[in-house]
Amino acid sequence: MARGSPSLRVAVVLLTRDLRVHDHPALAAASEAADEVVPLFVFDRAVLKRFGAPNRVAFLLDSLRDLAASLRERGGALFVREGDVVAEAMRVAAEAKAEAIFVSDDVSAYAQARELRLAEACEQHGIELHVMPGVTVIPPGAVAPDGGDAYKVFTPYWRRWSETPRRALARTPRAVTVPGALARGHLPALADLARGDVSPELPAGGESEGAKRVKAWLASGVARYDERHDDLAADGTSRISAHLHFGCLSPLAVAERAREHAGAAPFVRQLCWRDFYAQLLGSRPDTPREDFRSRGDRWRDDEAGLTAWKEGRTGFPIIDAGMRQLAREGFMHNRARLLTASFLTKDLAIDWREGAAHFFGLLVDGDLANNVGNWQWVAGTGVDTRPNRVFNPITQAKRFDPEGEYVRRYVPELEGIEGGGVHEPWKLERPPKDYPEPILDHREAVARLRAMHETRDR
Ligand code: FAD
Repeated sequence: MARGSPSLRVAVVLLTRDLRVHDHPALAAASEAADEVVPLFVFDRAVLKRFGAPNRVAFLLDSLRDLAASLRERGGALFVREGDVVAEAMRVAAEAKAEAIFVSDDVSAYAQARELRLAEACEQHGIELHVMPGVTVIPPGAVAPDGGDAYKVFTPYWRRWSETPRRALARTPRAVTVPGALARGHLPALADLARGDVSPELPAGGESEGAKRVKAWLASGVARYDERHDDLAADGTSRISAHLHFGCLSPLAVAERAREHAGAAPFVRQLCWRDFYAQLLGSRPDTPREDFRSRGDRWRDDEAGLTAWKEGRTGFPIIDAGMRQLAREGFMHNRARLLTASFLTKDLAIDWREGAAHFFGLLVDGDLANNVGNWQWVAGTGVDTRPNRVFNPITQAKRFDPEGEYVRRYVPELEGIEGGGVHEPWKLERPPKDYPEPILDHREAVARLRAMHETRDR
């Protein structure tokens, strides 16, 4: 949108998972185009019922409180409503006599349907709809293969993504003028929105916290990312995934700032993975339910195995440490996510959808595109070019947690065992009494899996 004197009187900015004021193309464009802006967030009960894990709702509320404070600092306010997102956006637009709605483009089936309904409603009421970028570094679909709508292999996507020109960062509005007479509404309490406990060590949400994390990360973490990102005990990753998911951070701004730091390329590559899975979900919105590439896998029903996995009581310390980190923090290290997901889908041969649902119930960074994309990658139904790969929980533990520090941090029953011996407690002269025996033999599980693959591929 061209910069200049405002052409609209009032515009609504429908906020979704873009909860920031910096590099917010929709907010920036609305602020430039209109005399008055209504930054609006709608709590949609239907969405909360399906996706409102307490950890994420708590983080969302933090993020909205922080955003409300940033808007107040600029003379504005956050407007809050509850109900169907399109109906409420249209109601607010009518009340405020808005001539336009600005919204960030997004990829899930729900987001695509929301955009479509919003477009229809806007057309019916003669309101302009502006769909803006900002949820990814490069908009989904901006980089597409010849003859297709999305890349299905990461490396060629990464090459094209790296060469693609990026939009300029959007200007942060200095002032936000809101209609004085419009009711603002209140942020609900967590207990009104979600049932169940919040993980005890949940990170704080919001743009201010996200900005602090990025600053600290770029100053002292990113340079050693390549060397440390797989070291489970070092915890040497950025831990900004939840802030990226809720848009408390602009992925483009993070990528641009990272570029100025030595050794940041492997970290920026991970941001590209995030964009990769977003464009994949955009083109295949059915993949939260359906295999991306169905190979005819047959999954086992194993209630006891699934429960042991969820509770972190499989008897494999590295798997149990990962699952307990998830319960305690609403977060799990990426290497542990890979190992626990492989254990569920390959050792236990349980359907990846069970694992993805459990992760989604706890992860504060729970993101449909990333969760489903990664689960399917590990399960061999997704975009891994080696779909039959299996991670060995013992050799991986010895490699990525050689001193057993990560395991001892999360599995207190094993605290007294020194060094890497903690990964095979059953081999100790006196195995710990309160820790379970392994629920399966990894070699036998792999042999069973290979036999299943042979039958499947015959
Ligand atoms: P860093 O290593 O510092 O990476 C920086 C950012 O890059 C991350 O914040 C994230 O936005 C992105 N990123 C990193 N790795 C990946 C990846 N493999 N795929 C896509 N984006 C990536 N990530 C989520 O954000 N939400 C999920 O729901 C999610 N579910 C996962 C499920 C499984 C089974 C696996 C194996 C991975 C999953 N990931 C998910 C990806 C990854 O584990 C997390 O993004 C990462 O651990 C977050 O930590 P960080 O912010 O310190 O990451």
